[in-house]
Amino acid sequence: MVSATLGPRVLLRRLREVMAEPETAQVKLDKIVMIIAANMVAEVCSIYVMRPGNVLELYASEGLKPESVHKSKLKTGEGLVGVIAEQAIGLNLSDAQNHPSFKYLPETGEEIYQSFLGVPVMRGGAVIGVLVVQNRTKRNYSEEEEEALQTTAMVLAEVIASGELQEVAREVAIDVAHMRSHNLRFETLAEGIALGQVVLHEPRVEIHNLIAESIPHELKRLDTAIQQLREQVDELLDGSDAMRATDYSDVLETIRMFAHDKGWVNRLRDAVQTGLTAEAAVERVQNDNRARMMRMQDEYLRERMHDLDDLSNRLLRILTGAVATASRTDLPQNAIIVARNMGPAELLDYDRSKIRGVILEEGGKTSHVAIVARALGIPGIGLAEGLIDLVDPGDNIIVDGGTGEVFVRPSQELERAYGEKVRFYARKQARYAALRDLPAITKDNFPVELNINAGLIVDLPHLHDSGAAGVGLYRTELQFMMAQRFPRLSSQVRHYKQILEQAQGKPVVFRTLDIGADKTLPYLRQPREENPALGWRSIRMALDRPALLRLQLRAMLMAGAGQSVKIMFPMIADVDEYLQAKAAVDKEIDYLRKRGHDLPKTLKIGVMIEIPSLIWQLDHLLPLVDFASIGSNDLVQFLFASDRGNPKLAGRYDPLSPAALSAMRLIVEKGRQHGKKVTLCGELGGRPLEAMGLVGIGLSSMSMVPSGVGPVKAMIRSLDQQKLWAFMEPLLKSPLHSLRGDLLEFANRHGVVI
Ligand code: PEP
Ligand code: MG
Repeated sequence: MVSATLGPRVLLRRLREVMAEPETAQVKLDKIVMIIAANMVAEVCSIYVMRPGNVLELYASEGLKPESVHKSKLKTGEGLVGVIAEQAIGLNLSDAQNHPSFKYLPETGEEIYQSFLGVPVMRGGAVIGVLVVQNRTKRNYSEEEEEALQTTAMVLAEVIASGELQEVAREVAIDVAHMRSHNLRFETLAEGIALGQVVLHEPRVEIHNLIAESIPHELKRLDTAIQQLREQVDELLDGSDAMRATDYSDVLETIRMFAHDKGWVNRLRDAVQTGLTAEAAVERVQNDNRARMMRMQDEYLRERMHDLDDLSNRLLRILTGAVATASRTDLPQNAIIVARNMGPAELLDYDRSKIRGVILEEGGKTSHVAIVARALGIPGIGLAEGLIDLVDPGDNIIVDGGTGEVFVRPSQELERAYGEKVRFYARKQARYAALRDLPAITKDNFPVELNINAGLIVDLPHLHDSGAAGVGLYRTELQFMMAQRFPRLSSQVRHYKQILEQAQGKPVVFRTLDIGADKTLPYLRQPREENPALGWRSIRMALDRPALLRLQLRAMLMAGAGQSVKIMFPMIADVDEYLQAKAAVDKEIDYLRKRGHDLPKTLKIGVMIEIPSLIWQLDHLLPLVDFASIGSNDLVQFLFASDRGNPKLAGRYDPLSPAALSAMRLIVEKGRQHGKKVTLCGELGGRPLEAMGLVGIGLSSMSMVPSGVGPVKAMIRSLDQQKLWAFMEPLLKSPLHSLRGDLLEFANRHGVVI
């Protein structure tokens, strides 16, 4: 019934005029219902606005009795209007009164209208109202009419979400989001408590320019943007970013498929044809998708819709020129970054003085972004599925990295309680600080050397605050990840010199570049691989590209001239690889000596034991090295064939299992037999219960996140190592899935501070 002469574009133009008027939202809505009724030749046009408590209130109507406005109310799910809101679907009925959900509201006088067309008014995936047209005669509204009404609803959403109705829309969006079932799972990534404001890592794009001036122009913009989008996605897939977790490249593959999907593109073009700008068309189609997503039971399909949502966001960014991540925007002083996922370099892009916490929907404890969060001392939560749909930028939020809890828009009481908890946490830290200068030795005199892991210059003060013995792992790749291009020799030398200076004579173990899997360099194009974690990475890349490795070794040796230097190689799989790496060091020593450079006073070379094959090479390897460090993050991942970054596997296998502990026990024993120092630098060492298990198997040196030093030292000082070993030895031979429960019980029984 859209009049042939007027049409949706004229309707949109009229609506734009109304929107531009300096009137209240109520006046605008009153005018809008009149315009729609006239344009669509409908006898009734009504707007229902969602109010808190999920009540739809008749806000404006042309055709229904005026006294029913603001009086007629329907709960979500109640009546036709309630069904539309609940299911976020449109209803097109020729005989509305015989529909099972029809509810008769006597005050409206609507009994005389038989046909009914209603659509949800949506904003950001939430239903904020319902728009209805009605006619007396029994008729079916055409598809074009439905389209037109949907487009109108989109413009209407803008009116409702602005002006004095803004708060209403906001409350409702929140309400609706809370109503939806979200399967939230939390995992703590980094200790600490923070209160702050939500910053979405990938900001939502806000569109204000909804109505097209020229449709051909908008179609052209859309086509160009889609072209750009496809190129961007191809680049992402072929380029270095695809070296991230396989999960991520799967997502990109799906996104690429959607980007070329004709159905999607046609729907976008159709939406522009109804008179919307290209960006408004993307949002409209996105709204439809979100509504479908809400109704979907199948998790796999919901995931795919999520991917499509990602794609729409990318397209919106291209069309509006909005920034890709929030790191380049003005951050609040207490930012809590909420992201679907991010790489470690992306976290490093933020101004760390303003970040109080980080929450990831994906990404577990041993993902590198979590390691970076811990290194930066930022409380973190992972596996917070569905959180992005619940939060809005600027929302208050509490992150409890101790328990894994997240509180969105907490009440004032909760904020107060958490303020107290933050103070308590600070007091606890102060107690640990009191242990700073006490030795880390068990009650039965088993000394344990505690070191910190670091990767940035700003980590070094922790070495002294924590009272750790030294830096047991310096992840050199972080400097490379933050740079725009390969750091030159001079900048590498400067960097390592600074680290040694700040360590003030305490030992530092520099690990050579460990790039690959989720640690990518933006300027290094790496080939796409099926299994990046098992691929051409780390020492493998270094040995194949010796120039890179040699430059780094040269920088380390030059920086450490006249001092003690320790260098460690990552991801060594056999003795031969170690020998090749060691030969590169010898070559560099020769090179520097020939040119009259000063050399380090002492040089110790070590390996990381993080690939299981090495466990059966220890009798050959240990005599050749000065020390070895168990990289439990990778070792456990490879022992169990379980991707350390895959949220679905997080928690499936326990490093405190007989299998993992026995493997590590073997390494510790071999070290003792060969008189070579064995330490551990995976994340395990920083957690008191896990560290207790490690001390139990005889490990006497560990390197950990700086905030772990205090708690781990408190644990050690309250432990009897012999007693624990006697308890653990038989359990290591058991078929148990994990010894976690037994260890906890031991700790409780013997008063070990965990
Ligand atoms: C490890 O694998 O345990 C380790 C310390 O190295 P990274 O976490 O940097 O891979
Ligand atoms: Mg590793």
